[in-house]
Amino acid sequence: LSLEKLVSFATHIHGHLGPFLALGLKAGQLAVDAAGRDPLKSQAVFRMPLKRPYTCFIDGFMVCTGCTPGKLNMDLRDSGDGIEVLYRCGARSVTLRVKTAVLQGLLDRLRGGEDERALAFKVLESKPEDLFDFSASQGF
Ligand SMILES: [Zn+2]
Repeated sequence: LSLEKLVSFATHIHGHLGPFLALGLKAGQLAVDAAGRDPLKSQAVFRMPLKRPYTCFIDGFMVCTGCTPGKLNMDLRDSGDGIEVLYRCGARSVTLRVKTAVLQGLLDRLRGGEDERALAFKVLESKPEDLFDFSASQGF
């Protein structure tokens, strides 16, 4: 699916389009590019504060990767003050973390009352390497 279709599907499921949903979509797309997509053979482990808006990320990631709560292949861990996800698909895996400056910038802008859709589109137009630190590997 194109990013455009994924965005509209994710917004339909999630209910609103904000920068954290957008970050999750970009992260999911990166994860799939790096490790492949197989909703029945993949798993995601999230580490982040389990509160909004951080957790909006999870729904974006879900839509891209097909890791869902219903299949029990997503694991949420309340930790730290960043957003990190380990994605495994078969024997391949990728770990990615939202850059601290990106995360802080978005939180500040949301608090400052900036339009969340505009922020989401800024995220969607960004290069993955500007949003995340990541490393991919073969095997565990
Ligand atoms: Zn949200």
